[in-house]
Amino acid sequence: MKNKRTIKDMELNFSNSIVEQIEFRSNKYFLKRDDLIHSEFSGNKARKFYSYFQQDLSSFDTIVSYGGNQSNAMYSLAALAKLKGVKYKYYTRPIPKFLLKKPIGNFEFALENGMQVFEISDFNNIKVLEGELLIKQGGAELYAEAGVKLLADEINEFAQENSLEQLSVFLPSGTGSTAVFLQKNCNFPVYTVPCVGDEVYLRKQFSELVDDEKLHPRILPIKKKYAFGKLYKEFINIWKEVTNETQKPFDLLYDPLGWLIVDEFCNVLGDNVLYIQCGGISGNETMFNRYRRKNWA
Ligand SMILES: *Cc1c(COP(=O)(O)O)cnc(C)c1O
Repeated sequence: MKNKRTIKDMELNFSNSIVEQIEFRSNKYFLKRDDLIHSEFSGNKARKFYSYFQQDLSSFDTIVSYGGNQSNAMYSLAALAKLKGVKYKYYTRPIPKFLLKKPIGNFEFALENGMQVFEISDFNNIKVLEGELLIKQGGAELYAEAGVKLLADEINEFAQENSLEQLSVFLPSGTGSTAVFLQKNCNFPVYTVPCVGDEVYLRKQFSELVDDEKLHPRILPIKKKYAFGKLYKEFINIWKEVTNETQKPFDLLYDPLGWLIVDEFCNVLGDNVLYIQCGGISGNETMFNRYRRKNWA
């Protein structure tokens, strides 16, 4: 029988997020291992939900959120609810029958950790009851800054300890909240790429969270249009290559585009590049199965 993933570790150990050196296609990179922060509550979701983790939530009995049925945020919030000893309600669009019959991936892990799931076609119709704390989709809100600031502090400190005067920080973006709060608090330029939506969407997201455009990350341009969550041969190919060459874990939703772009723009990024591994490994099984069904993996 498969081991159940249950939340045991009550700590978020940001000190687990070490910096390693890797080489990919003959270029050297620093890799910041945010995936090691916590086995369930990992990566940038641990950063983004850190302020809730710290807060006293005893006036609430339930955390409520919504979004996709394989989202990393969905699973991390299940972990947060469990750590906080509150219930967890999650709204998502009608769930495919095969997934309900045999839950897999982040959906399975969130259910195992007590998520109650509700199907809804329009998220605007979610009603928040008394005692419920609503945490919006993807964690793109001001509360996310506190934990991301700690990441910025760690990077600033790393650069200082290693006497790095030049450093380019890179991470792939969804809502863009990690990237924008990182740039606001980091002494070095932050580069990113939109994995969800396009450049216009991402700039709008930055502006909603941080007014001053001088504090916005730099967006590296993508030549081709990729739809989030869709399968692309070049994604699985670079994912296999970077995973094999570095022997480090990367996720299959964000990191393929991340590495395609970092490799393409390595000259722009300069000698010292820090790639932030934002977690998401728990979603790889379902993504990999989809690639296998296409005979691409
Ligand atoms: C959520 C997530 C991102 C995107 O973070 P945003 O703050 O929404 O831009 C990137 N990588 C992984 C692995 C994620 O889970």
